[in-house]
Amino acid sequence: MSGGGKRDFIRETVAEDVSAGKNGGRIATRFPPEPNGYMHIGHAKSVCLNFSVARENGGTCTLRFDDTNPGKESEEFVESIKEDIKWLGFDWGNRLRFASDHFEKFFECAVCLTEQGLAYVDDQSPDDIRLMRGTLTEPGRNSPFRDRKPEENLDILLRMKKGEFVEGQRVLRAKIDMAAGNINMRDPVIYRILDTPHHRTGDRWKIYPTYDFAHPLSDAIEGITHSLCTLEFEDHRPLYDWFVEKLLPLLESTPRQIEFSRLDISHTVMSKRVISELVREGIVDGWDDPRMPTISGMRRRGYPPGAIRDFCEKVGVTKQNSTIEAELLEHTVRENLNKTAPRRMAVLDPVKVTITNYPLGCEETLTAANNPEDPSAGTREIPFSGELYIERDDFMEDPPKKFHRLSPGTEVRLRYGYFITCMKAVKNERGEVCELLCEYDPETKGGNAPDGRRPKGTIHWVSGAHAARAEVRLYDRLFKDKNPLVSKKPLKQSVNSESVEIREQIPVEPSLSSTERGEVFQFERKGYFAAEGELVFNRTATLRDSWKG
Ligand code: ATP
Ligand code: MG
Repeated sequence: MSGGGKRDFIRETVAEDVSAGKNGGRIATRFPPEPNGYMHIGHAKSVCLNFSVARENGGTCTLRFDDTNPGKESEEFVESIKEDIKWLGFDWGNRLRFASDHFEKFFECAVCLTEQGLAYVDDQSPDDIRLMRGTLTEPGRNSPFRDRKPEENLDILLRMKKGEFVEGQRVLRAKIDMAAGNINMRDPVIYRILDTPHHRTGDRWKIYPTYDFAHPLSDAIEGITHSLCTLEFEDHRPLYDWFVEKLLPLLESTPRQIEFSRLDISHTVMSKRVISELVREGIVDGWDDPRMPTISGMRRRGYPPGAIRDFCEKVGVTKQNSTIEAELLEHTVRENLNKTAPRRMAVLDPVKVTITNYPLGCEETLTAANNPEDPSAGTREIPFSGELYIERDDFMEDPPKKFHRLSPGTEVRLRYGYFITCMKAVKNERGEVCELLCEYDPETKGGNAPDGRRPKGTIHWVSGAHAARAEVRLYDRLFKDKNPLVSKKPLKQSVNSESVEIREQIPVEPSLSSTERGEVFQFERKGYFAAEGELVFNRTATLRDSWKG
């Protein structure tokens, strides 16, 4: 696994806290997903950061599901997130928690605030609460219920818990300051009534804590020392600190919140809301559609977990929001696969080649390197015969000067095979080339001629009689626009209509008929392809950046 360890401002801060002996030098981080969707690569950045900072400091990282919105959450999402984190190569050991594990404790904290006169029940409607909150330029106004006595607040709070009221009828608010410059400090709601069963606690609870209340308390209850989150929470930090300070006697630690910029990548979307809309509207084929920015989609697409970790490391951790070019991710994937992916031959747009001087009915076996970048990957055997397929665009009848592949009268090298010369192009009634009649030089087996001559081009091929037939799905970027959400077009219209092309009956070398699901190959000269099932391949990436968006 890549080491992490590049000193960014978060690692600096953590190191300072360690040397200052804060929390006895102990480091505890957490990754806090809400189980309301599948993980995307933005979450992976947070996973890599939290788990790596813990590991580098001999600390711990907790996986905590932030399950405080029962209506949107489910066990399916919990399981998918666990699977994705493991696949990324991280291990939370016995530190799996749910915010719902702490529901009793949160309530105890709410009671404690209420008793101290630091929280009150507000009977105003949600609309009135919003109106009275003020704006960035205007202070808020106090609720008429703000000065209720602690005993009365406590009594109503307990009745809210029992389910005596309906949704929206009452809320519990922290009593801070309606004139605060920071709107988050204007008596934020900390409990609301929700008559929705929870995927873990069933119908036990009728009131649920808000994120702003549950998050700092979960951190402090679990003894977290550094709570790393994205920049949009910067303005919530005073509130985070307020809850921890007021409730400290009931808590384990005083965690420190540190914010960093969200990962954003061009030509895709990184918002769960939009990603789930793509799924719901059937614009893509599920959360794990290979074009999706989800971890499960990238897994199906053939992205190696190591490439995702390397990418997150390259992107780094800063406080500046920016959009990372999709090219950097794709480049990292290619770089990773180039070292590891076994080479194979497949002809994605085939045209037939007949070698007219090859002995009729004969065949032979040639030897091919599995990975020229890695001799330890060994070799394999591939069948050769007088009838082959090559790529249609490796032949030109009337080629321009720089075209070094096959054309009438020119010689090319067949990868790992012989030199062939094209004698004639046969055309069908529509005038399209349907067969190339070629002659081979039997002295050039393995790709070298005794007289030392070297054709300018080398092309790949598959023997027709021996080929297996595969379905190949050519995936491309999901959006043509660099920033698909800027145009405000309906999602359906912004999606790249050429982001998938399915080709069937593609001739591939016979060794590709037995693959493991998820295994990634380089189809020589064509790109990286991940096995999805028996003889079905998803294109992971082209060999170089061919994007013309
Ligand atoms: P939404 O998309 O609805 O805002 P979310 O992406 O914040 O939701 P969470 O499940 O709350 O979803 O995220 C879990 C953790 O991942 C949080 O700590 C969050 O800050 C972090 N995170 C989410 N998106 C990104 C991103 N694009 N880059 C880095 N970290 C992210
Ligand atoms: Mg969130």
